[in-house]
This record gives sequence, C-alpha cells and structure tokens, in this order.
Amino acid sequence: MKRLICLVLATLLAVLSVPPASAQDSSIVVFRKKIEHPKIIALTFDDGPHPRHTTEILDILRKYEVRATFFVVGENAGYYPDVFRRIVNEGHEIGNHTFSHKCFKKLTAFQMKSEIERCDNLLNEIFGYKTKLFRPPEGVLPGTIYRYIKDENYTVILWSIDTRDWAGTPAEAMVKNIKEKVSPGDIILMHDFARRGHTVEALKMIIPYLIKEGYTFVTVSELLGYD
Ligand SMILES: [Zn+2]
Repeated sequence: MKRLICLVLATLLAVLSVPPASAQDSSIVVFRKKIEHPKIIALTFDDGPHPRHTTEILDILRKYEVRATFFVVGENAGYYPDVFRRIVNEGHEIGNHTFSHKCFKKLTAFQMKSEIERCDNLLNEIFGYKTKLFRPPEGVLPGTIYRYIKDENYTVILWSIDTRDWAGTPAEAMVKNIKEKVSPGDIILMHDFARRGHTVEALKMIIPYLIKEGYTFVTVSELLGYD
C-alpha cells in the first residue's frame, strides 16, 4: 500500500491554523509526496520575473540543462516581458503568483479573485500562456477563496523545503539545509526577486550537488504526474 505524506498540506494547515480533515483538503490541495517517489525534484522560483536575478538563474539552469517552475507576479511579467518570454522559451513552467503579490490575509474574496484573474488574463492575453498552477503570496490561502480555486480548477502548489532566501540566508546555510532535508519528490522554494538574497550563489552549489546525488529535475506539472 502506498503511504502518502502530505507535507505541503500540513504546511498549509499550519499556516492557516484550521483543523485538518475538513472538506476542502483533497479538493484543492496541493501536492502529495510519496515515500516511493522516484529521485525527482522540482525547483521553484517566486516573485519575478526580474531583469537581473531571473536572467542569472536562467543562465545557471541552462548550463546544467535543468528545468524549473517560475511562479510569476503578473505585474512583473508585464514590466519585463522579454525575461518572461525567455523563461518560457527555455522550457520552464509558469505558475500564477497573483498580479501584485498582496498577502491574501488582508484581502476580501473579491480582491483575491481579482488578483488571480488579473495575473491569469495578463499571461493569456500578452503571452498566450495558460496555467492552472497557483501559489498564493506567503503561502497564505484563506478559506473564503477555496470555492473559487476549486471552481476554476487551480492546483495550489506550496513547497516542502523553504530555502529562506527571502530572509537573506547565506548561500552556505541554504545548501546545508537542502543537504540535510532533501528527499525524492521535494518542491524547493526559492525566489528570483529576493532583494537581499543569495539565491544565485546557492544555486551554483545546490544543482551540482543534487545531480551528483542522482536527482532529476522536473517541472511541477511533471512532478504532479507522478502522484
Ligand atoms: Zn511570493
């Protein structure tokens, strides 16, 4: 029998402080990690595109022939369309990370819906890109938006390892954290718009390490395909 670990669901529930096993659990959430996962891993980058950070990250990914998933902020995609197009052209996946990255904790259901839709519309209309992957800013997803998420068939993707690059964590500490925690099927959270971040520096060590350990890098949709 297959044992499922729902790490990300656990994270989500912890963030929201709602009791587990409520009706919404299996309907919108999220990502289940199997003990028996093959040795695959998904790198995810949030908050871009950014003209410098995203470009540097794309250069590293290209060097190692690694594909990743970028959860973009709609207005940044609008500001930097060429960087967005490069992400897509180089075979990476795109997810919706709202239009302007407001934390959902402070928004009404209407405002949350609008944040998701404006990002979706921009990706569709400007770039012809469609995605049903959604990651809420800061991983916060109030219950008042569950119905919309479900009706629109979004899959909410959080993460199982947070590099804490957003907090200015030194590259060596990020690498150590991953070495200690990593296991097949992980979704790793990083940012291509972390102002104080050492993401690029860390990535130059993390990717060769994981390749040496026998991991194959996949997009989030490919990872979900194993579920
Ligand atoms: Zn974010």
